[in-house]
Amino acid sequence: MPTNSRRSFLKSASAGAAASAVPANAAQPAAAQSKRPYRQTGFAPGASPQRISDNLYRLEDTCNVYIVKNGSRAVLIDFGSGKVLEHLSALGITQVDWILHTHHHRDQCQGDRKAAARNIPIAVPAHEHHLFADAENFWRNRRVFHLYYVRNDFNTITENIPVARALADYSTFRWQNMDFYVLPTPGHTLGSITLLATIDNKRVAFSGDLMYASGKIQTLHDTQVNYGGSEGIDLGIFSLARLEELKPELLCPSHGDTLPAPAAAIRQTIKSLTDYYRFQTGNAPSEEGMPYAVTPHLICHYQTTSSFYAILSNSGKAMFIDYGSASPIHFGNFERAIPSVGRIRFVEHNITRLKRDYGLKSIDVAMPSHMHDDHMNGFPHLVRHFQTKVWCYENMVDIFEHPRGYNLGCILGEPFKVSRSFRDGEKFRWEEFEFEIKHSPGHTEYQMALFVTIDGQRVAFTGDAFFANSNVAGTLRHNLIFRNHVENDSHLKSVRNLIEREPAMICPGHGKAYPVDRSILLATEQRLRQQQQFFFDLLPDGQTDFGLDPSWVRLYPYQVLVAPGETQEITVHVQNYKPTAMKIEASLVGPAEWNLAPEVVKLTVAPRSKASAAVKVSIPRDWVAPAPRFAIAADVICDGRYLGQITEAVIDMKGFLAT
Ligand SMILES: [Zn+2]
Ligand SMILES: [Zn+2]
Ligand SMILES: [Zn+2]
Repeated sequence: MPTNSRRSFLKSASAGAAASAVPANAAQPAAAQSKRPYRQTGFAPGASPQRISDNLYRLEDTCNVYIVKNGSRAVLIDFGSGKVLEHLSALGITQVDWILHTHHHRDQCQGDRKAAARNIPIAVPAHEHHLFADAENFWRNRRVFHLYYVRNDFNTITENIPVARALADYSTFRWQNMDFYVLPTPGHTLGSITLLATIDNKRVAFSGDLMYASGKIQTLHDTQVNYGGSEGIDLGIFSLARLEELKPELLCPSHGDTLPAPAAAIRQTIKSLTDYYRFQTGNAPSEEGMPYAVTPHLICHYQTTSSFYAILSNSGKAMFIDYGSASPIHFGNFERAIPSVGRIRFVEHNITRLKRDYGLKSIDVAMPSHMHDDHMNGFPHLVRHFQTKVWCYENMVDIFEHPRGYNLGCILGEPFKVSRSFRDGEKFRWEEFEFEIKHSPGHTEYQMALFVTIDGQRVAFTGDAFFANSNVAGTLRHNLIFRNHVENDSHLKSVRNLIEREPAMICPGHGKAYPVDRSILLATEQRLRQQQQFFFDLLPDGQTDFGLDPSWVRLYPYQVLVAPGETQEITVHVQNYKPTAMKIEASLVGPAEWNLAPEVVKLTVAPRSKASAAVKVSIPRDWVAPAPRFAIAADVICDGRYLGQITEAVIDMKGFLAT
């Protein structure tokens, strides 16, 4: 499906797009190399390392290879052909401790096999880990026919590279007494990083191919991700603005000359790229999106992928409602770049602005309107770097803490802790504000409506339940995604929450806050009754909710992480929508060598309720997995009727996942 934004996806109300995702970091290579190494050419660069300062050298190879020296030891930034190894003894270097890559292009890493042969550990950007370590898998799956995803990931290495460490965004890589700060700087590639370190008393930025020289980038073709797009330009502007804030004193690009005192050059590049971006797209770049005050204590940013809100207390503390990706360009492109095992990239946005323009002092609490990645992609970052507490409606807790458990739309593949949860109808106080929380299903079962009075205005945060721009006059627009768990009356429950509480203003999950009144809500309720009638009419009598829910029998966890020799529980969950009790027999269909206890799960599920039972799966110690990732199913009999393999789970073998 075309990428673009969650916003346009929700506007189109068309088919569902579930972002596949699992816990942090990317796929590890298949443990055993399946093929013999390629022959190499004898080509090599003619240049010698040039001294930049006492402990910093540059070798012009297929890319600039930077040598950061400490006594007889060194770290290399990118590696090119690997020729650098032959120059090190002349610089008094006897050991290379690490190679740190800024991005995955072949010119940065084509000689890495030489490093691996000498046991030099290689660290790579976390969001491009799979394009080094699992490159051969990338090539097996990269489509060339019907090419609309024109991103230049074709410049990926042809053979797997052993990766010792993934460099996580915003982390610090410590080498001896030197810290390399990992700043996410997408643009030239989607996963690019800039490494910042103080070398010879100068703040040095190894910026990969983010920029080439003042006002210049090395290639335009690398900045296009989708057909006709200018995504990498937009991302590059945003990245350069973040780099500018860190005030580097020396810029070391992967191509082009080093730039001392680069502030003016960075500014010029931002300006030149912005002019070009406006010319090509007619739009302002993501960097120019700005939050606005709905009322003095309620700040909204709607140009981010999903809207996020800061409720500002007089104390300077803020409660965030949602905090997702920086812009639709960030979300749409990062989402599509995720390997089957991975988490969407997040880059921090707007916090500096909120501090500067609105007096925000701390982000005390963050609450997700619902469990979708576009709304809380930034929560782990807030927890990690701002000591923010996550509060949420109770049915979201397990999804956040155990995202492997579920197969629902738009799960974020990184677990995080929830510090407080709320029941349906619960009231609570935060700072000077009084809240009421209601379960608000429809868009997803896992969504709240949050009611609060701010600056005398009664507002409701409703996530993606309702939007103002309906094509039916006088109503709100709803949406329907079956993978998100929808029941026939889910949407009606949500609109009734609003009718009963009559907020003056709705703060939606996408777009600006908008006013509502009783007549709009009542008209919306009528329309949602029509939807319910369609469900009843279109689906077999008495089976409406079974026809809406792809997972009324489901396996938990959905993505099971196992190793030979282990015993794991896989739980069969059944939701009985019928007004009578239901008898279920279920049995797993998986590898013949696995031991199942019990072989057949038998359950009686009370009318209109749920039940579950666990199967203990024991995997023999000497068992060899058929693949790093594969599927199992469950065969099901319901009330004596054989339904077949109506549900499934995915198995990931431990040891193939980076931790
Ligand atoms: Zn490159
Ligand atoms: Zn959304
Ligand atoms: Zn959503």
